[in-house]
Amino acid sequence: MPISEEDIDATILDRAINDASDQTVRAVLKSICAKSDEARKEAENQLLVSATETESSDKNKRRVPRYAFCVNCEKEFDVTTKTEKNCRYHPEQSEPTGEALFVDNWDECDVDTDEMRENFPECFTFECCEGNLRDNPDGCVTDFHQEQYPGGRPAKRSKAF
Ligand SMILES: [Zn+2]
Ligand SMILES: [Zn+2]
Repeated sequence: MPISEEDIDATILDRAINDASDQTVRAVLKSICAKSDEARKEAENQLLVSATETESSDKNKRRVPRYAFCVNCEKEFDVTTKTEKNCRYHPEQSEPTGEALFVDNWDECDVDTDEMRENFPECFTFECCEGNLRDNPDGCVTDFHQEQYPGGRPAKRSKAF
C-alpha cells in the first residue's frame, strides 16, 4: 500500500515533536489550546484530575494538575496513583567515600559530581542506609510520591553540601 501524503506529514510532525525542546513543545501546546476549544478540553482531560474530596469545603469540583514531580525520587508521577507506595528513594544524599575516588583523581579537587557518580557508583555511600550507589541506586525507603508544590512548578531538591 502506498504511503499517503497525510501519513508522511504525520511522520514528519512526529519527528518534529521529538526533536523540539520541552520549551518549544510547551509553547506550541499552549498556542493550540488558545486557538481551539476542543484542543483545550482534550488537554484538560489528559493533564488535569478532580481534586480529592479531602477538600470538601470546596463545593465546586476543582481540578488540579495530573502530573507532578516527586520531591523524594525526583521523578514525574501521576497524582492519581498516589494511593500506592511506589516511590523509592534515599532520604539522605550520597557522599563520596570510596578511596579509589581520591587515588584516581588526586589532581581533581571536586569528586562530588554527577559525572563521578556515574563512573564510580561503588564509591558513593548513602548516609541513610550505608548502601552504595552501585548496589542500591533506587533507594532504601518505599513511600508515596510527594509533590513539592501541589499545583506549582517542579523544583529539584537542593543538594546538601
Ligand atoms: Zn538509603
Ligand atoms: Zn517519588
